[in-house]
Amino acid sequence: ASALQLRGIHKTYQLGEHRIHALRGVDLDVAPGELLALTGPSGSGKSTILNIGGLIDTPDAGEVVLNGRAIAGLDETQRTLLRRDGLGFIFQNFNLVPVMTVAENVDYPLFLAGVPASERRRRVAEQLAAVGLAEHEKHRPDALSGGQRQRVAIARALIKHPRLVIADEPTASLDSHTATQVLDLMRDSAHTHGAAFIFATHDERLTRRCDRVINLLDGSIQ
Ligand code: ADP
Ligand code: ADP
Repeated sequence: ASALQLRGIHKTYQLGEHRIHALRGVDLDVAPGELLALTGPSGSGKSTILNIGGLIDTPDAGEVVLNGRAIAGLDETQRTLLRRDGLGFIFQNFNLVPVMTVAENVDYPLFLAGVPASERRRRVAEQLAAVGLAEHEKHRPDALSGGQRQRVAIARALIKHPRLVIADEPTASLDSHTATQVLDLMRDSAHTHGAAFIFATHDERLTRRCDRVINLLDGSIQ
């Protein structure tokens, strides 16, 4: 099954008197293990697609299928559970908890899920090693560079082994060299573990390293 399937997705926003058509019939399949970039000018609908695929927002029309599971008709509690178990999120500004250490930030989703402490320690150590941050586990985020912080955020997004990771401009606050490294880490993780990544970017240099690039214009795929 696809990690994510969107069929005939429409989304409008009401802004005062104006009706904004953010998505006009989007069809999209994200395959397991695929690194997929969404490009397009500001306002073309990238974030709206990520929010709908991430079960943060609902479409006005169309079908969303996440890891083979149709989302239509699920209530907010059921969607929250699917989001927690099947999805990872990475943000432009990392969204790390500043008072927690690197290891505590990565551990947090496992803690919330009630995973036993000894297993959590083992998995956090493995995941930090996988993103090259083992020696920083006791540091707080403000002691790290931007690229290291984003690697912590990636480790946190991957710690529950989601089938799909959603990232809105994950490299926008990084310099070009660091952005490339972070993207390569996502690509390696996708190809090694079969997690799919879908992310929005403005940076054409990054899209070359993706498996597929989808260009949006005015709420439609070009
Ligand atoms: P992108 O991520 O490509 O910049 P968005 O998906 O954020 O595009 O936006 C698509 C369109 O929907 C834009 O015209 C934007 O202004 C509009 N939009 C997005 N979110 C809202 C909202 N909450 N209320 C009103 N309009 C919105
Ligand atoms: P084991 O079966 O010995 O736990 P895995 O291949 O599952 O080995 O994991 C090896 C490393 O890869 C660990 O750091 C683990 O957390 C990480 N890992 C496993 N699956 C995924 C995944 N889907 N996404 C990201 N990292 C993963």
